[in-house]
Amino acid sequence: MKNIAVIGSGTMGNGIAHVFAQYGYEVSLIDISQAALDKGIQTISGNLDRQIKKGTLSEAQKAETLARLHPFTSIAEGVKNADLVVEAATENVDLKLKIFADMDAHTRPDTILATNTSSISITKIASATKRPEKVIGMHFMNPVPVMKLVEMIRGYLTSDETTQAITELTKKIDKVPVEVNDYPGFVANRILMPMINEAIYTLYEGVAGVAEIDEVMKLGMAHPMGPLQLADFIGLDVCLAILNVLYTGFGNPKYAPCPLLVNMVQAGHRGAKSGQGFYDWANPKELKVAKQFAK
Ligand code: NAD
Repeated sequence: MKNIAVIGSGTMGNGIAHVFAQYGYEVSLIDISQAALDKGIQTISGNLDRQIKKGTLSEAQKAETLARLHPFTSIAEGVKNADLVVEAATENVDLKLKIFADMDAHTRPDTILATNTSSISITKIASATKRPEKVIGMHFMNPVPVMKLVEMIRGYLTSDETTQAITELTKKIDKVPVEVNDYPGFVANRILMPMINEAIYTLYEGVAGVAEIDEVMKLGMAHPMGPLQLADFIGLDVCLAILNVLYTGFGNPKYAPCPLLVNMVQAGHRGAKSGQGFYDWANPKELKVAKQFAK
């Protein structure tokens, strides 16, 4: 594989494009507007600077990496030479089905189509194409240039050849593929989201405050950050969407999203990206709890 196309230049898409370009692949980065692409490339440039400061990258390598990134606003144009497309557009099932139908129409028959979805069924996404055996989940973790894991999700019809090709490619970009099957939440979010939801319930029921809950999990469980801060980082709307996938996918009330989470998302408090969540993100270096949350 030489040519990779990445659809979506947001948080995850620009990270995925960054890593492939850094490891020598030609990358087409595709988004709906030039402004979104410019922002994505600017983020990649800033993150490459951070690697230079740490001494893990040279100025010349930065220039080479940026030169391997090719922006497109059209899926048809951006994917036509791709050996692999990694879709990292907004988490919306109808949008992904449409993008996969488009990708299927405009790529070579042998191109592998991967999705970075956090929670949508790979089998369902694959049903929008005529090549379900070549559709697979490549669930990168945020921030992509730093995190080693790629949760590799096999849909019901994903072939052994596709899984093998993606296993090898993932290792070439210095990540670790872990193969899992296609059930709601896969593995990462099936375990993480109930923990985050329970932390929100603990707050909602007034057992402890935001800072106390996060402190217990940081100091007591050696987590690098508490579950409420992590939820703010992931995006509270994203957490809610994933919990709803688990809730409806398994039909089990243990996954029902906490009413406090639902209220916060309805109020537009979506975490770090919106400026307010469990914390006030006006000054991320000195995080303050956003408000008194007890019921
Ligand atoms: P984001 O909102 O930061 O970026 C999404 C991008 O997709 C935007 O730039 C948007 O303009 C673009 N887009 C929307 N419609 C498009 C289309 N038709 N064609 C091309 N581009 C389009 O979202 P994100 O956080 O990067 O999430 C992307 C995917 O990655 C989602 O499926 C999400 O579930 C998954 N994911 C997110 C995280 C995370 O921590 N944020 C972690 C793992 C997986």
